[in-house]
Amino acid sequence: MSTGPIAAFNFVGGDWVGAASGRTYQRENPARVDEVVVTAPDSDAGDVAQAVQHVADGYHEWADRAPEARADVILRAADLLAARAEDLAVELVREEGKTLAEARVETRRTPQNLRMYAGEALRLFGETIPSSGDGLVLTLRQSVGVVAAITPWNFPLNIPSRKLAPALAAGNGVVFKPSELTPLVGQRLVEALIEAGVPGAALALVHGHADVGKALVSDPRVGAVTFTGSTAVGEAIHANVPPWVRTQLEMGGKNALVVLDDADLDLAAEIVAKGAFGLAGQACTGTSRVVVHESVANGLLDRIMERARGTVVGDGLSAEVTMGPLASLAQQEKYQTYLEVAADEGARLETPTHGSAPEGGYFVRPAVFSGVHPGQRLAQEEVFSPILAYLTVASYEEAVEVVNGTGYGLSAGVVTNRLDTALRFARDVDAGVVKVNQPTTGVAMNAPFGGLKRSSTQTFKEQAGPTMMQFYTQEKTVYV
Ligand code: NAD
Repeated sequence: MSTGPIAAFNFVGGDWVGAASGRTYQRENPARVDEVVVTAPDSDAGDVAQAVQHVADGYHEWADRAPEARADVILRAADLLAARAEDLAVELVREEGKTLAEARVETRRTPQNLRMYAGEALRLFGETIPSSGDGLVLTLRQSVGVVAAITPWNFPLNIPSRKLAPALAAGNGVVFKPSELTPLVGQRLVEALIEAGVPGAALALVHGHADVGKALVSDPRVGAVTFTGSTAVGEAIHANVPPWVRTQLEMGGKNALVVLDDADLDLAAEIVAKGAFGLAGQACTGTSRVVVHESVANGLLDRIMERARGTVVGDGLSAEVTMGPLASLAQQEKYQTYLEVAADEGARLETPTHGSAPEGGYFVRPAVFSGVHPGQRLAQEEVFSPILAYLTVASYEEAVEVVNGTGYGLSAGVVTNRLDTALRFARDVDAGVVKVNQPTTGVAMNAPFGGLKRSSTQTFKEQAGPTMMQFYTQEKTVYV
């Protein structure tokens, strides 16, 4: 059911406003491309400069509030989001394209994130340091100032909540730029925080495209940049941000699941299908390579293909649908390009992909390619759609070599019944997240999260963990 486009606005200096230029852009429903879901300000560098100025001038009042007062506000926002979870889930499906079941996981997780980070406001502990004589040496932790938060479209509520909530809990001001593909859902988070009592001077929202992100990260008043998105953009940001600005860059992956000769093949196939076809393959931790022992390769492939064929593609609002559309035309074109790349490289398409996806949206079918070699593009590059490279190996050692043979290091999994092998695998693989008999996707909200190699900056991990709040605070050593 279409309700007509919703108008999104920037939030600058405590007011909901359009771009100064008056320009807007439209975001369509990826499952029904004729339906415009939202019109949003097409902001530019001038809008960014204004937003940063307001937050830089005004966030101190928020920073000076008692930690429990900041925590109370964030907890209130969590309650508002929890009360709106079902409406939000529907908006999320219409704007981004995942299924309603997948969206509900996200709208349930978001208030939980806010509650967890609200508590961190009360735990910004410093240290006392042994010193000689009557003197006292101690450390103080304070907010950084203006935090720039830039996010992708694939978890448009959950990822921003993991940035805005800890940043605000620590007393920072935030300028938030959501993905241009998901302005509405990003705005819903800001609406809840403002309604709950975050002062308009401490939080700004600027909608728009890459140029908005570029202007934001290069503004000299920004003290910290927290970015989640592609490795190419993350590396470009890293090259342009001066060393005194702290950066947290969560980037792409080329995640592999290893299936060893002792694996339960039904379990392995289920794990592969969830990791590779869930969220239409558009998770940073999605399984894009299966590395299988040759002795079980045929048995596993049959089981994976059965699941690929059973995938019901369509509008995520329909209860029977198990895989929604890709998020954009660019995503659909990229999928198509990789089908051609794989064919050119001589890989064999095991599942039929053409002609069977529904019309009217950015729909595709799961595709599994066998006969892929580790150095080929399909085995090296992040595809970010439900295309699976199926690679066969003769030993555990060869499997680890294949897993580690890309520039990425986000998530890796192993399916085995041997605990010693599983633990050895955890030590051997270049991955920040290691899964044993579980999909490469899906992480705990209260566990450290971040990749190795080109998947993340190596200084501050996102989500819970010792470095999480350190990113949003700066330390001073005080001698008394
Ligand atoms: P993207 O890098 O294209 O865009 C991410 C955000 O950066 C968007 O808001 C975009 O407008 C902005 N942006 C684009 N160019 C910019 C620039 N030069 N300077 C500053 N900002 C700029 O990524 P996407 O297509 O939105 O998301 C998909 C990617 O995100 C995938 O690579 C995926 O692996 C990654 N991702 C990573 C994680 C993680 O935790 N590691 C989680 C989710 C998604």
